Amino acid sequence: MKKKTILVTGGAGFMGSHLCKRLLNENHYVICLDNLFTGTLKNIEEFENNNNFEFVNHDITKPYYRDNIDEIYNLACPASPIHYQSNPIKTVKTCTIGVINMLGLAKKNNAKILQASTSEVYGDPEIHPQKEDYNGNVNTLGYRSCYDEGKRCAETLFMDYKREHNLNIKIVRIFNTYGSNMTKNDGRVVSNFILQALKGKDITVYGDGSQTRSFQFIDDLVEGLLKMMNSDSVGPVNLGNPIELSMKDLANMVIRLTNSSSNIIYKDLPDDDPKRRKPDISLAESILDWSPIIDLETGLQKTINYFNHN
Ligand code: NAD
Ligand code: UDP
Repeated sequence: MKKKTILVTGGAGFMGSHLCKRLLNENHYVICLDNLFTGTLKNIEEFENNNNFEFVNHDITKPYYRDNIDEIYNLACPASPIHYQSNPIKTVKTCTIGVINMLGLAKKNNAKILQASTSEVYGDPEIHPQKEDYNGNVNTLGYRSCYDEGKRCAETLFMDYKREHNLNIKIVRIFNTYGSNMTKNDGRVVSNFILQALKGKDITVYGDGSQTRSFQFIDDLVEGLLKMMNSDSVGPVNLGNPIELSMKDLANMVIRLTNSSSNIIYKDLPDDDPKRRKPDISLAESILDWSPIIDLETGLQKTINYFNHN
């Protein structure tokens, strides 16, 4: 395989660090661009002495100049609600000004560019499961809007750069993903439940716990990202695990897998919390020959082991 120079924005974050590792294993030259807002150097310390790896501390809302880039994976953006809501205006800037900067960089380099979009573009969906041709049900005014609308605008910018400049773009809509290198205090449900269970603390289920999500393990996602980048498809393509479960069932599963004595307690449901979420992945199956292979119990066990050791 030809050695490529690949830029990963958000490469010091949860998903980005796994993606960098996979690309390094395939012997590419990897530039990790990150402002360390939610990412950490610890996530990438294992590549420190790898001559094919370079870390650049940079905020994508500022222009970045570089030649000879073959591919860009644009993952930079805080992903957990408490992080993206902590500075919502900055979140919108990252998804718009930052995205324009990365699209400009791709244009100058004639590079392929992939956008890490999200199931949040479907908002609180009225159809189930969600297919790529569903336009979504998104509140423009709420606390989640900076992220949801920011990501929707990013998709628009990608399509317009394709139409206006014939840029080679790819859009994937990623559903809830979990695994090692998730930040332990980012408030997301998998890390919260595992840490609470390991410490014997109460498990905090929001609302009555009947709301659903579909969780994919990080290794499955990384495989999907590479397949998408190497395909002819523009997308958008859903990448997620269609096995859906309620947050109450997730809490019970985590308690069982950790042998925890924790009890479940119920707290207020955050505003605009989507009630159901499940990807239709028939498009990814047919055009990428991709589907997730790691089941939830196996993936959770690996993630529990990671948090246990860290
Ligand atoms: P993360 O917060 O762990 O990683 C995001 C990374 O981007 C961090 O390293 C952070 O420091 C960096 N970053 C943020 N703003 C930046 C900026 N302006 N300039 C440069 N770097 C910046 O989140 P993650 O879970 O790894 O998510 C990665 C991408 O995938 C995000 O774009 C997110 O929206 C998307 N996504 C994630 C999920 C999920 O379940 N984790 C689901 C759908 C989409
Ligand atoms: N959630 C919960 N307890 C927690 C954290 C989250 O019940 O300690 C719920 C949250 O209300 C949502 C689901 O778990 O319904 C997934 O939340 P997360 O923040 O992980 O992702 P998102 O809402 O963006 O899908």
